[in-house]
Amino acid sequence: MSLVLAMMALIFGSPSAWATAIEGISVTPERITVAFDDYVENATAFVLDNPRRIAIDIGGARAGQGGAAAGPVRSVRQGQYDPQTARIVLDLARPATFANGSFGSDGRSFTLDIRPASNVAFASAASSGRANFLPPMAFRARPPRGRGGLTVRLPRATRSNDLELPTVSGPRGRPLVVIDAGHGGHDPGAISPYGNRREKDATLAIARAIRDELIESGRVRVALTRDDDRFLVLRERYEIARRLGAELFISVHVDSAENREAHGATVYTLSEVASDRESARLARRENASDVINGVDLGGEGQDVRSILIDLTQRETMNISARFANLLRREARPAVPFRSDAHRFAGFAVLKAPDMPSVLLETGYLTNQDDTRRVFSREGQTQMADGIARAIEVHFARRVTATR
Ligand code: ZN
Repeated sequence: MSLVLAMMALIFGSPSAWATAIEGISVTPERITVAFDDYVENATAFVLDNPRRIAIDIGGARAGQGGAAAGPVRSVRQGQYDPQTARIVLDLARPATFANGSFGSDGRSFTLDIRPASNVAFASAASSGRANFLPPMAFRARPPRGRGGLTVRLPRATRSNDLELPTVSGPRGRPLVVIDAGHGGHDPGAISPYGNRREKDATLAIARAIRDELIESGRVRVALTRDDDRFLVLRERYEIARRLGAELFISVHVDSAENREAHGATVYTLSEVASDRESARLARRENASDVINGVDLGGEGQDVRSILIDLTQRETMNISARFANLLRREARPAVPFRSDAHRFAGFAVLKAPDMPSVLLETGYLTNQDDTRRVFSREGQTQMADGIARAIEVHFARRVTATR
């Protein structure tokens, strides 16, 4: 089943392989600036007493070497707090606190103001917990699925820096949707018994047709994760969309089943509760990898930072679910959805995206009529027309709602 393969591909992405390095730290009497060689997830700062320090944790970063001191900062140290978090410690010569943390507009630097403080103000800051800062949405690394020792390490497909970003088409200032043609290259996806046709060819043709529809109407911007027969792991597909600042991600697939009568389209979104046994089984298998990785997900709820991430995910899930409903309504009858066509799966691995995402199975390659539909020019154009309409309604509604 193609969904399983897609999920497996995502599981195999090793989060630690993507960690960004801290390139440099500069300290003036008023300010500390930390530079990165790529995107990070977030920064949290806090004050510690005995001895007096200011600590900055950078999520999704690898620690580098120290840094020069200035002003109230006596020395600068760096260390790896856990596999995904670099910690910078500013040892203080005299009481000081921080203010105005912010990321650069490209997400590649973080600046924190350092201010002299009275003993009372320092003590108060030391007992007031962490302050959280997030890079701009379009320049934010996604958090990995867990924090802890990775015991399973598989070779990465590419470094995030090497990702080739596709062309974006459409009028400036319009929201961006990224269409992902499932599979590709050495991964054909499902094979149809009717003419040995390959899923990867149908997904690419449908993705291109959706793009052409969207370009024609000019209401949104659009990009494809792949516009040729190449292989990308799912992690890279999301990564491309995130890098481009996509506000909607649609992964296009064609399913297969034992039962040749099975036909019609299904749209999957993330949920905490799987909607049926099939989805639950996939989710269980996927979530089991967290145990293998020795990750303590239970403890994360205590952390303000995770709460913030969790809220983002919840909002993202809601938007994804709303789009899935819209798609079922607007893309009919060209995309003939099954009666249970919107299914939820509790894939922990899909909770990471801060981008509304759906996975669309357009039909079954094991069904003769569906095979004809997804491989015919006419079928592709009609489906693309319906899907493009749903995308435009989605963004039009969102604009109305925020004004
Ligand atoms: Zn597939």
